[in-house]
Amino acid sequence: MQSYEDAWRFNEEALDWYNLLTCLTDWLKKKKFGPLWELFGKPRVTNSGSIDLYPEANSPLDLQSLGLYQIRYSIPSIIPLEKLRDPAFVRPTKYEHQTPQDDTQLLQAVWNVIVDQVEMMMNEIELTPFRGGDATKPNLTWRFRVYGAFQAAFLQWYFQELADVNIEKCAKSGCEKIVPPDRRKYCSKQCYAAAAKQRQRIRKAMEV
Ligand SMILES: [Zn+2]
Repeated sequence: MQSYEDAWRFNEEALDWYNLLTCLTDWLKKKKFGPLWELFGKPRVTNSGSIDLYPEANSPLDLQSLGLYQIRYSIPSIIPLEKLRDPAFVRPTKYEHQTPQDDTQLLQAVWNVIVDQVEMMMNEIELTPFRGGDATKPNLTWRFRVYGAFQAAFLQWYFQELADVNIEKCAKSGCEKIVPPDRRKYCSKQCYAAAAKQRQRIRKAMEV
């Protein structure tokens, strides 16, 4: 059985997680770069596969065992193509990771974190068939089975703030990134430009 102290700690940690998730979403929507950069830290290369977005002092170590996960983020460093083509190039033995390097990558990173965390929490919430209160009307609907005020608050936030935001993948072929709420079709200006160039090349080739 969970002790009173454990239960209290879980509440505190769940609340931290929820606070961070709702803040991230708010900052992303309003493009508040200041607090987002503070959270992710200066652009840098790291050896470990992820960075912890919780302030170290109150890192909730027990979240994983309690069904929540720490909010982490990382992307592998990209080795430029010209380097790979260079016969003298030696592949690094250690896999390097990097934190977001510019505003575009930062927004993409935040959006990825939000989608990951929401997906994880939605997996915890069951959808069950519901017969309805009126026995004379045989209607079957579905409802979420929520455990406690925490999941209820999460669901309410989800439907208010996130459910109407489309989760789409970038339309540029070969790019698997998610399209952030402030962009349409393409994940970034770079992919938009690359796709436009590609279309232009195809048009030119057809003219000849
Ligand atoms: Zn893309």
